[in-house]
Amino acid sequence: MALLRIRHDGDPVLRKKSRKVEKPDPIILLMMDDMAETMYGVNGIGLAAPQVGVNKRFVVVDVGDGQGLFKMINPRVIATSETSCVDVEGCLSVPGLQGEVERPETITVKAMGPDGKYFKKEAEGLLARCIQHEIDHLDGILFTDKAISVWEPKAEEEEAGEDEEGGEEDSGKAPDARKVVIKAYQLAQEQQQAIFAAGG
Ligand SMILES: [Zn+2]
Repeated sequence: MALLRIRHDGDPVLRKKSRKVEKPDPIILLMMDDMAETMYGVNGIGLAAPQVGVNKRFVVVDVGDGQGLFKMINPRVIATSETSCVDVEGCLSVPGLQGEVERPETITVKAMGPDGKYFKKEAEGLLARCIQHEIDHLDGILFTDKAISVWEPKAEEEEAGEDEEGGEEDSGKAPDARKVVIKAYQLAQEQQQAIFAAGG
């Protein structure tokens, strides 16, 4: 097993649409083990293949709710609840930022397991949110694209955030004064790129 290098926002691999996997070959199986080790090593709750530089459709998820580790190949949301909820998300590929994202509360996901067989799984709460976040990665989408608001948490909050990031009951106490509503963050990035392009 090995720790993998996590790619950060700005790396083109995070913006490509990933390819479907035909069957779980040994390399993919090994890679999912390494992704799980990497995820646990940084207290993450999910990791998608593009985040470690591979544009193929597989993810690992363990939100620490006692259900354990899910390895999902070609995961697809096949049903969602009509109700949605807003909660705080972060991302190992977007360090130093958090944001509020609205997503369906409950989902049914269909995915291939490491044994090559497809399974269905109903998920709610943090697990549902995390699976949707990881599937977004497979389509080149980052949470900052969807976020209602994005902000830089204070250092101590980042730590606390790791534990409570989930529960819907927490969404009420999302930061307010500091809530720099930065789509500006993305705009700044685009402007920078434009400046580079112009200056280059
Ligand atoms: Zn992410």
